[in-house]
Amino acid sequence: MTHRTVIVGAGIAGVSAAAAMRRTGYEGEIDLLGAEPELPYRRPPVSKEIVRGEKTPDEIRIKKPEWYEQQSVNLRTGVTVASVDTDAHLVRLTDGEEVAYDQLLLATGGRARHPWSAAGIRTLRTLADAPDLQAELAPGHHLIVVGAGLIGSEIAASARQMGCDVTLLETAALPLPRLLPPELGELYVDLHKSEGTDLHTGVEVASINDEDGHTVVRASDGRTWSAPVVVVAVGMQPNVELAEAAGIEVANGIVVDELGRTSAPDVFAAGDVANQPNGVLGGRHRVEHWQGSQNHGTAVGKVMAGGEDPFVEVPWCWSDQYGHNLQVTGWPEAAHELVVHGSLDDRDFIAYLLDGGIVRGAVGIGRPRDIRAAEKWIAAGQRLDYALEGGT
Ligand SMILES: Cc1cc2nc3c(=O)[nH]c(=O)nc-3n(C[C@H](O)[C@H](O)[C@H](O)COP(=O)(O)OP(=O)(O)OC[C@H]3O[C@@H](n4cnc5c(N)ncnc54)[C@H](O)[C@@H]3O)c2cc1C
Repeated sequence: MTHRTVIVGAGIAGVSAAAAMRRTGYEGEIDLLGAEPELPYRRPPVSKEIVRGEKTPDEIRIKKPEWYEQQSVNLRTGVTVASVDTDAHLVRLTDGEEVAYDQLLLATGGRARHPWSAAGIRTLRTLADAPDLQAELAPGHHLIVVGAGLIGSEIAASARQMGCDVTLLETAALPLPRLLPPELGELYVDLHKSEGTDLHTGVEVASINDEDGHTVVRASDGRTWSAPVVVVAVGMQPNVELAEAAGIEVANGIVVDELGRTSAPDVFAAGDVANQPNGVLGGRHRVEHWQGSQNHGTAVGKVMAGGEDPFVEVPWCWSDQYGHNLQVTGWPEAAHELVVHGSLDDRDFIAYLLDGGIVRGAVGIGRPRDIRAAEKWIAAGQRLDYALEGGT
């Protein structure tokens, strides 16, 4: 009997796992089941080139359409898995079809959180969400964006680039609160403001309602803003329900070990949905970054093909806003000491985040090579002074 792997979720983690399995010689069947109707695509351009109309969906595919057949990966799009039976080793689709597995990968990612409901609310997670938003990005249109995290900030920047009037509301005191230490968050206050985005921080949104053809955002302190459309970008919710219902351990994501194994036999998880131990940073993290999901999918795919190497990686991500490429590596914390090389004013710098002199994180604009070096120092637990002197 042929060995059979089922992968639920055809995002970057799922596709990377399938690719790694084939590269490492796995000869069994691979079923790659994806709920979205699209051929797998790169998600980061959705809030950038796609909403600005600079790229088409076909230009952001993860693999060429013929790749799946060439690699004998049985990709099925528009197919949603409704349940997992870990005893019978099968998944059930929403139409009742059962697909048996010898091993299963849950790479189900996440969906946009939307705590409010109103006709004028938009969210952006998938390609299918893009046309609705794109239609709003016209000169003179007013757009409110709730949430100045990575995706909200990018949508605001894209909308300004398209000539919209943009109001950006953030609960935290500064934008990008989960990515940047306060001194660098200030930089993004200046950037949004200098680009004409009307940024308000410290805004706790109490409600969003449709009123007289407008969408009205009310803050708990009584302030209101209104526009035809409000984009809600307040984070993502990991798609853990399949795992939870199957009795697999879930805690801020599907809990996996360093090989990607869940609490159920022969069931693995990878990507945004996985709560993973990090051998470099210590502790557990659920990392919502593109490269992390790609590399985690690859690593877990290799394990599913018979490998034994644990996944160890220093997180890294980027964000493009108003023509500036921000890169962040490690896990910056407010308590870290900040050492800046370059010029914050010119937006050309690298900032190292130190804990007792040891590099724990780095943030840069326009310094990709320095960020790559910092990533190695973080992995090696090096002191900054020693690393800059050329120590290895
Ligand atoms: C608009 C946007 C911009 C971004 N920009 C950046 C960036 O600039 N830099 C960066 O580092 N990161 C960025 N990210 C984050 C990055 O895209 C994610 O970390 C990455 O896509 C996660 O990949 P994944 O495969 O784990 O999950 P996902 O991409 O979420 O894919 C999971 C797939 O599983 C499918 N699925 C879920 N449940 C089921 C089911 N029951 N049955 C079948 N299929 C199912 C989903 O439909 C989805 O297609 C961005 C994200 C978004 C939304």
